[in-house]
Amino acid sequence: MAEEIPKQGKAGVVVNEGSDFKIEVQMVDVPEPKDDELLVRLNCTGLCMSDVHFMMNDWALPPMSAFGVRCAGHEGAGVVVKVGKAVKGWNVGDRAGIKPLSDVCHNCEECWNGRENYCAGGVYTGLMSAGTYQQYLTSPAIYTSRIPDGVEDAVAGPIM
Ligand SMILES: [Zn+2]
Ligand SMILES: [Zn+2]
Repeated sequence: MAEEIPKQGKAGVVVNEGSDFKIEVQMVDVPEPKDDELLVRLNCTGLCMSDVHFMMNDWALPPMSAFGVRCAGHEGAGVVVKVGKAVKGWNVGDRAGIKPLSDVCHNCEECWNGRENYCAGGVYTGLMSAGTYQQYLTSPAIYTSRIPDGVEDAVAGPIM
């Protein structure tokens, strides 16, 4: 049986982006997956120094707010709770991981050669798309990671 999906979930929202940022736990709307996306309920997130840089905005990158992103985090592990209409091969209940790149272009030299971390079209999770400091996150099915049995979420999250 599919679990009930609430309207809102908890999130660690960055307040005061910049050198004196804070993270506040707030309730945010649970996103609706697009046709090619999964909705994942995260059980764990990694905490990474890059998250701090994104929240401080001390790298030569636009701030999170420029992308409408309120939660950092790019290493998440959880379970699929809803599957977009056009998605094949994923089911509710499957374990799922969220990576530092939430998506890539899938159609450049780097992507074709397994070097998609160099893709110029890479979407940085927790900067350009909603991060893993929240309970519910959508993810493109084609670029969501499988988590094998025998690997706990607390271990799988940071490995992403
Ligand atoms: Zn990291
Ligand atoms: Zn690419």
